[in-house]
Amino acid sequence: MDRVDFHMHTTFSDGSYTPTELLAYAKEKSLRAVAVTDHDTVSSHDESKAAAAKHGIELIPGIEISCQFEPGTLHILGYFLNPKDPGLLKDLENLQKARAERNPMIIERLNKLGLKITLDEVIQQSGGDQVGRPHFAQVLIKKGYVKNNEDAFRYYLGKGASAYVDKRRLSAKEGIEMITKAGGLAVVAHPKQLKVSDRARLIELFKEWKGYGLRGVEAYSSCQKRDEQKFWHELGNELDLIVTGGSDFHGKNKPDVDLGWMGNGVTMGYEIVDQMRAALQTA
Ligand code: AMP
Ligand code: ZN
Ligand code: FE
Ligand code: FE
Repeated sequence: MDRVDFHMHTTFSDGSYTPTELLAYAKEKSLRAVAVTDHDTVSSHDESKAAAAKHGIELIPGIEISCQFEPGTLHILGYFLNPKDPGLLKDLENLQKARAERNPMIIERLNKLGLKITLDEVIQQSGGDQVGRPHFAQVLIKKGYVKNNEDAFRYYLGKGASAYVDKRRLSAKEGIEMITKAGGLAVVAHPKQLKVSDRARLIELFKEWKGYGLRGVEAYSSCQKRDEQKFWHELGNELDLIVTGGSDFHGKNKPDVDLGWMGNGVTMGYEIVDQMRAALQTA
């Protein structure tokens, strides 16, 4: 079995497995190749690489960048990029700064709403690396302010909720170019989350992004239902994009998603790795 998974998170962003634990789990799941795609950071790369080598798994360097978009969210995955690229590291540092500016503002809002929570508690929850909203959610759950992650986002942290604070984000063009310049292939993650249902509008958007260098679309995401996956596979083909897939595994932080499964019983074969490699040759 030559299964692969192209979308997963470690403790360096908002997953619950360290890179070492994640790669051990990938071995248990008999995955041949994986891409670790932490949000806005490649800091897990060295540890992931060492663990992958130990288990004989092929590690594809990856990332997931949150870009500006309305009405939904636009996440761009990057594959095969050089995690040591100086331009990339500089851009990522700026994204970390934007996060560091936003996080205390979320605390301030939560405090104003009467919730007792400190930034230190959230930092501790994050394990000391990147701090994201899911870490705020975990602290709110632990303190009994909400019963689960979904409610934490619905009432406080999600877009438009009472303690929501936006952060500076890259435009789609900047996100795609950042990945491409670092030698990577840019792919739109879980396109359902764009929250655009008009087909003509979607085609327009993807054509624009292709103009910036977009190469693929993640049709097979665990957050998309079978008919949605089919829709995105067809649209991807029509737009001449590589059709990819990934679980979006976050460990205990997203308990209903397991590594190696793209939802609806779907798994991905190794052919996709060859297809991406071929695409890299035709930049
Ligand atoms: P951040 O990068 O800190 O803004 O946090 C973004 C992360 O929060 C996403 O990658 C999701 O894991 C999570 N998230 C965002 N919106 C929601 C939502 N409505 N429900 C659950 N999780 C969400
Ligand atoms: Zn995440
Ligand atoms: Fe995402
Ligand atoms: Fe993700």
